[in-house]
Amino acid sequence: MPHKLTIQELTAQLAAKQLTAREATQACLDRIAAVDGRLNAFNSHDAENALAQADTADAAIAAGESKPLLGIPIAIKDVIAVKDQPLTCSSKILGEFNSPYEATVITKLRNAGAIIFGRLNMDEFAMGSSTENSAFGVSRNPWDTGRIPGGSSGGSAVAVAADECIAALGSDTGGSIRQPAALCGCVGLKPTYGRVSRYGLVAYASSLDQIGPVTKDTRDAATLLNAISGHCKYDSTSIPRNVPDYTAPLGRDIKGLRIGLPKEFLGEGLDPEVRAATEAAVKQLAELGAKVTEISLPHTEYAVATYYIIATAEASANLARFEGVRYGARVEGDDPEAMNRATRGAGFGEEVKRRIILGTYVLSSGYYDAYYLRAQKVRTLIRNDFLEAFEKVDLIASPTAPTAAFKIGEKADDPLQMYLSDIYTISANLASICGISVPCGFTSENLPVGLQLLGKPFGEETLLQAAHAYEQSTEWHQRKPDLS
Ligand code: GLN
Repeated sequence: MPHKLTIQELTAQLAAKQLTAREATQACLDRIAAVDGRLNAFNSHDAENALAQADTADAAIAAGESKPLLGIPIAIKDVIAVKDQPLTCSSKILGEFNSPYEATVITKLRNAGAIIFGRLNMDEFAMGSSTENSAFGVSRNPWDTGRIPGGSSGGSAVAVAADECIAALGSDTGGSIRQPAALCGCVGLKPTYGRVSRYGLVAYASSLDQIGPVTKDTRDAATLLNAISGHCKYDSTSIPRNVPDYTAPLGRDIKGLRIGLPKEFLGEGLDPEVRAATEAAVKQLAELGAKVTEISLPHTEYAVATYYIIATAEASANLARFEGVRYGARVEGDDPEAMNRATRGAGFGEEVKRRIILGTYVLSSGYYDAYYLRAQKVRTLIRNDFLEAFEKVDLIASPTAPTAAFKIGEKADDPLQMYLSDIYTISANLASICGISVPCGFTSENLPVGLQLLGKPFGEETLLQAAHAYEQSTEWHQRKPDLS
């Protein structure tokens, strides 16, 4: 069952010649054929292309080459450009568009030997928390196919949790890696803003977006982060800073590590079972030697409002480029403006339109100061809350999401309820810090729960060290959904 392996396990088996990259890739493709009709994690995949890459990897292995991801099939959220592959962002507006160039993260994965395959479903333009806002239909949670997998990187989390790939890339603007990882029982890491190049990531909210790994365990997240991190000359917001070996801290104990529990993250709206799982996880961290204290992030109550002003403002500008001329689909009109309107009217889904309208409003003359400018100021206060907290603690622990996976359709007509699914994750993007979600239990309905750890800017090493120590002292990450 090669598709069930982690990166580390598959790498060992490939090196020991117990398995070929072709066999591993074929196993993923077979798994997709067997389960994806029910799950809808993939918008598309090109089997021939994947197997051709696998053969190249096998030849390299036979020639004695060794690279960190050699022969590992990795699936990609459909918002990250892979040359000559479809790039849909799960939107109708991109039509048959194929990317003419490759994202930096993809180039880096290829340099590390990875097999890049499949386009993973998501909320349209990464706007959503359930993958219900997809022109390709909802992805389904493998633990209960009547429920959402989270979002917007729902396809990434489903594909990893259901073993349709070995690992995946997602993107996180307000929680889109961590929240679906939590709801599907896998590991999801949002790097510090600037750690990973955004070149080739279709922009949603440029000051918040980061690409990151969705994996079966913490070690795999570290391995993928090693491969994708670093400065890139095509993204001026990527930071020229040395990339440490993120697997190095794995296995170090966490004795004396200071972990803060923000009291504002454990209040109203938190499901009792999620709370219980989080508290048990924090207790476990304490048993491993961490010193847990209560902390305060006083501006937390403004985070959702601040995020939905800044994110929509940036989105309204970023999405202006989809006008029927340069990319994908076009609906004709009598003049350019009519064509523009018709294309955008037919091409964008309801949530994307809602965000563009809201974003345009908060940027408009007369409202800019009242909304956008004020939100920017509050963003600074939120960031300062975290920086102050990190003077007293090394990491912050919380639930990743307030509830386990909800039923498909349950929140579809209530945008505010949907926005509240990100209540614990969005602050990390506003503060430009890093965060990870690791499996920390199951509800009585057998739905996964995630523990979120947040770290200082560029504190991914400590984040991974603690996440790994916790993970290895539990068995949550080894449970698999029953898809027989
Ligand atoms: N759910 C949040 C939103 O809709 C976050 C999405 C994301 O991180 N891409 O904006």
